[in-house]
Amino acid sequence: MKSISKILVAVDFSDSSDNAFQMALSMARSFSSQLIVLHVINEPVDLRGFYVPHISFERLEEEIEEGATKMMESFCRQNIVDFESYECAIVAGLPYEQIIGHAEEKSADLIVLGTHGRTGLDHVLFGSTAEKVVRKSKLPVLTVRLDDES
Ligand code: AMP
Repeated sequence: MKSISKILVAVDFSDSSDNAFQMALSMARSFSSQLIVLHVINEPVDLRGFYVPHISFERLEEEIEEGATKMMESFCRQNIVDFESYECAIVAGLPYEQIIGHAEEKSADLIVLGTHGRTGLDHVLFGSTAEKVVRKSKLPVLTVRLDDES
């Protein structure tokens, strides 16, 4: 069996991704894998420089990145105890592209994500990010469903 030495878990700080994160962490402990915790800042590409001057957007982007970094630090502090082998990453772009791209770049063996996220968009089985990652990733993907999700 191929070893699972690196697991990438994608978190958007929703209950669903918290649940997926717990699964990824317990797998990382069981398989002694390295864990990469990734959050993607969903970039508002279409709005850039259109309604607001460019300079304001740069400041806004800095503030968003600072806020996301703080959320990630607090998330890891609260959820990762007695486990050293992890790294956190924050990138900007389209979540599904960045999740797949980062996992490939880091040579992850498995991508873990929740079936639903913060958007609350109800597709038949999956949210849109989950669906796109499952459809487009060449790497194995594990989706984790929360008990009360439809
Ligand atoms: P969605 O398909 O948007 O409902 O989200 C499904 C799952 O994809 C979430 O539970 C997360 O694991 C992951 N995900 C969604 N958006 C992001 C994001 N911006 N950054 C990292 N992971 C995400």
